[in-house]
Amino acid sequence: MTSTSTSSRIAPLESASKQPRRSIQKLLEPMDRIAANCTRILGTAHGQFEQDGQSYFLPRYLHIGRKGGGDMMRVGIFATIHGDEPEGALALVRFMELLAERPEVGEGYGIFIYPLCNPTGFEDNTRHARSGKDLNREFWRDSTESEVQTLESEIRSQAFDGIITLHSDDTSDGLYGFVRGAVLSEHLLKPALLEAGRFLPRNHRERIDGFEARHGIIHSGYPGMLQAAPDANRPPFEITLETPHLAPVHRQVDALVAALKTILTEYRYLQAIGQNI
Ligand SMILES: [Zn+2]
Repeated sequence: MTSTSTSSRIAPLESASKQPRRSIQKLLEPMDRIAANCTRILGTAHGQFEQDGQSYFLPRYLHIGRKGGGDMMRVGIFATIHGDEPEGALALVRFMELLAERPEVGEGYGIFIYPLCNPTGFEDNTRHARSGKDLNREFWRDSTESEVQTLESEIRSQAFDGIITLHSDDTSDGLYGFVRGAVLSEHLLKPALLEAGRFLPRNHRERIDGFEARHGIIHSGYPGMLQAAPDANRPPFEITLETPHLAPVHRQVDALVAALKTILTEYRYLQAIGQNI
């Protein structure tokens, strides 16, 4: 899947001194290649929208894992909702490689990967979308932002068992995460932070980002952040992973991949135990 944006158009003179836009095509190229070479991964484009005469879409890669013991578990992974935090998307390239090379990692799962939730912000290297909005404060608030509407409709229609979002925080010197939704979220984040801790230190502060935290875990969140629908029948587990933005990128990538892998393994165990009771 390649970008449909006409990024080659001539920039207006007044913006000639600005940094050139980053390339969506370049970001998605390795993911498209993995999807093309793996029969279990399917790449599609969702929610096409227009901005300043250019067209954008939200890429989605769906990995259908080998059948496990029970029902297929559906997990949505979302990255780059803040355009200046592409580390999550880079981690998802590695994670998709892993899914393609080692089928046991994704066994029993349908994994819906949304690596680029804020394409205009990514191009501009800004937290906000080009509309000026912080998309991660717009969810389930009747937002008029196309990206948010598309993601809300995906979240609603796919009825995920788990929602994981990836962020990178330039005010934190260590890893931490938010948990919401199902009670077991914390039992997934704990081991995930432990495994990710092989690559980066954890943020052990008692307050992180204005929230009360315990060993890098926050039981709260911002209103309007990407999350399950408020009226969802069965709340999924919800985890937001935050890496320290100023750490070396390859370490952030390694930490996120380790955390994702751990969450899948732990959730599979918890489901298996639950089904045997
Ligand atoms: Zn963020």
